[in-house]
Amino acid sequence: MRPNILRIDPGDIDDVLIGQAAREIQSGGLVAFPTETVYGLGANAMDQEAVAGIFEAKKRPLDDPLIVHIANRDDLSWLVEEVPDEAKKLIDRFWPGPLTLILKKTDRVPDIVTTGLSTVAVRMPSNDIAKRLIKASGCPVAAPSANLFGRPSPTTAQHVIDDLNGSVDIVLDGGKTDIGVESTVVEIVSGKVIVLRPGGIDVEELRSVVGMICVYTEKEVITKSPGKYPQHYSPLAEVVIVDDDPQQVEKVLLEAHEASGRGLSVGVMAKEEHALEYEGFHCKVLGPSIDARACASELFHVLREFDKDDVDLIIAEAIPEAGIGLAVMNRLKKAAGIGT
Ligand code: AMP
Ligand code: MG
Repeated sequence: MRPNILRIDPGDIDDVLIGQAAREIQSGGLVAFPTETVYGLGANAMDQEAVAGIFEAKKRPLDDPLIVHIANRDDLSWLVEEVPDEAKKLIDRFWPGPLTLILKKTDRVPDIVTTGLSTVAVRMPSNDIAKRLIKASGCPVAAPSANLFGRPSPTTAQHVIDDLNGSVDIVLDGGKTDIGVESTVVEIVSGKVIVLRPGGIDVEELRSVVGMICVYTEKEVITKSPGKYPQHYSPLAEVVIVDDDPQQVEKVLLEAHEASGRGLSVGVMAKEEHALEYEGFHCKVLGPSIDARACASELFHVLREFDKDDVDLIIAEAIPEAGIGLAVMNRLKKAAGIGT
């Protein structure tokens, strides 16, 4: 089965195409669609068989729970038992947007969505195509990233097709996604907001709304949040990271010469301001290190491009972990197989 690829103009959304995709969701199919973070692979969250299809298509382990997407804040009460005050404050400020909340689920949410947990992850995306699709579907939409499990997340419809061609019914192609890394995932424990996954909303933004924030280390997250694996978001090539320090260029060059000498095909993922230093090497620019948002939007695409070029080793320059840079480095460390 080849997916039906529907091109949709984000500036002039065609309701006929949205209707076609919504009917696919209603009849138990899988629809890939753009969100402001990455492309999602959506199914009716209330339809267990359809949700099973998501796990199958992605080859996702059955202990890795899904995020449920809603289009109206009112839909939350259907999915969760209670919304603590801190969650309300976060929702008021950041929804619709790239913030996922882990809340106590109602019995209505099928176990397969939450992999048997008593909590469910919920978010309301801000992307207009995503919002219109969810609204037209008339049900909550379970949607993990629309990539094969473990691969870099998809930021274009082409990335979705590269990974899932044959196992998705419709791909809504709404162009490149805006943010480029996934949502921030938080849970609230005794009034304290715990960041389980850094993402599109950065910690400083969260702190401007709620006082008590705790960012879990990767080790703590792995024990707390099922479905977290130390290696993830990985290109086929091996990834090594060179620290963000004044000797960064020298260290990259040393690694690159050494690996080339061993006969490896080397790619350098560079900060824009360093790119000229790597002349003679296969170099791709992530973005200016002062602009972490630009780096976030390019990260997964650049990792995928190196794979297309059959690179054996990607030497990646670390960027500062401020703002959304924390999410960029979290994904990059996972691509390299190291926790944070
Ligand atoms: P993805 O949909 O691929 O962006 O991944 C969603 C991630 O959210 C999962 O891998 C989990 O780590 C996390 N998650 C989803 N549901 C829960 C939950 N109920 N409790 C804790 N973490 C969750
Ligand atoms: Mg994912």
